[in-house]
Amino acid sequence: MVAVPAQADPGGGGEAGVERFLNSVRHDPARLRSFLLDLPKGGDLHNHLSGAASTELLISLAAQDNLCIDSTTFVAAGGPCGAGQRPATDTSSDPAFHRAVLMAWSMEGFQPGLGESGHDHFFNTFGKFGAVTGPHRVELLADVVDRAGRQNEQYLETMLTRQGGPLFTLSQGVTFTEDFAAMRAQVLAGGTMAGIVAAAGAEITADEARLRSLLSCATLAASPGCGVTVQYIQQINRNNPPNVVFTFMVSAFEFAAAGHRTVALNMVSPEEGEVSIRDYRLHMRMLEFLRGVYPQGHITLHAGELVAGLVKPEELTYHISQAVRIAHAERIGHGVDVLGEDDARELLRAMADQHVMVEINLTSNAQILEVSGPDHPFPTYRDFRVPLTLSTDDEGVSRIDLTHEYQRATTDYRLRYRDLKTLARTSLEHAFLTGASLWRGPDTFRPAAPCAHDRLGEPRPSAPCRALLASSAKASLQWQQEAKFTAFERRYG
Ligand SMILES: [Zn+2]
Repeated sequence: MVAVPAQADPGGGGEAGVERFLNSVRHDPARLRSFLLDLPKGGDLHNHLSGAASTELLISLAAQDNLCIDSTTFVAAGGPCGAGQRPATDTSSDPAFHRAVLMAWSMEGFQPGLGESGHDHFFNTFGKFGAVTGPHRVELLADVVDRAGRQNEQYLETMLTRQGGPLFTLSQGVTFTEDFAAMRAQVLAGGTMAGIVAAAGAEITADEARLRSLLSCATLAASPGCGVTVQYIQQINRNNPPNVVFTFMVSAFEFAAAGHRTVALNMVSPEEGEVSIRDYRLHMRMLEFLRGVYPQGHITLHAGELVAGLVKPEELTYHISQAVRIAHAERIGHGVDVLGEDDARELLRAMADQHVMVEINLTSNAQILEVSGPDHPFPTYRDFRVPLTLSTDDEGVSRIDLTHEYQRATTDYRLRYRDLKTLARTSLEHAFLTGASLWRGPDTFRPAAPCAHDRLGEPRPSAPCRALLASSAKASLQWQQEAKFTAFERRYG
């Protein structure tokens, strides 16, 4: 199949052929997975590093570090092992113990209705393997980036907390006040924050050198992950007191202002936590203030990861709206309870008009909230033309990958190839990359003027198009994705 000029898109012969192929494998899970594995998926924009690394890796690191695992709670801790603990190295000689740890540290084999809820089992895993992840940030990253590359992803934004210890110490000298400018001055006074920003920058540089080494990037055995562009999102525990939360928020904007690859912030830990709920509106006002102070730095927020019963009914009515309208979040993570929001239709229209994208995490929502299929707002968001992409949230704990999420969406919502292409393009369109988009307008997927007469993704674009691609990290990755689509459509069309 010959690639068709951009002007002839959408609906060129390649796409129609792929559409037929998809329909021929739609009910064959193994062939559907193989097709979706090859799909150029762009980026995974919502994943937490410690929850994304595979559980097998965490178990092997626990053994390597000679940690001990409590036989009842499965909490890992430093040795020597006491009563009621077993050495993590036992996992290599005792398959039953290995299996028990695997099930305790992930959703593997989890059966709802036997006491612990999916929600509690999911969130409890992090406390069990917490002693493993801290010292092994880069090993975890290598695992996640390698997996991304193997699934034809080009880009990853992963959430972690950089410099958490020093930031927490700094926050203890900050007194909360509603005068946010004064509180920010406290955070920045004395130069401690400047030192933390420099340390975070040095840490990223060292991490990336080590990452490239773990992925064998300079060798013939280079991992497919070597081609994945990685950026970071500073995650902030929303269950902390306001002086702590604010200090961490300032750190994220300072990192971004310093040109770090930490380009955004997100608020984490259960949205229904006592402090999360108490301070939800306060956090949104803090972000509104900081947004006005810092031109750099992006905001994406977990909002509406809630269902009736988990919180009081009134808590379902305002979280997404506050995140969009007060905190000016550019992306929303989950947004599951959107139909419970006050004036949901108006909110959905506003999100579409302002191109506020939703990071959809289907398996996570099924496991934690027990929301799936027709009960999930995925079709509603599509009806309102809110930009969407698929992401993984915690692919390690959930025992999934991004391909699995594309498969779930394809099957549950009978998506067409054109829909999959839009989801994949939307990820790069809303990635926190610098530079102008390849597209003429947000989410239009029609090329901007400099590339309007080029075949999308062609190896030798025109001079004006080349100039756009050279000036923009975003457009450049988008162009690469279009080249991948051309190859994909030749293969399957
Ligand atoms: Zn998340």
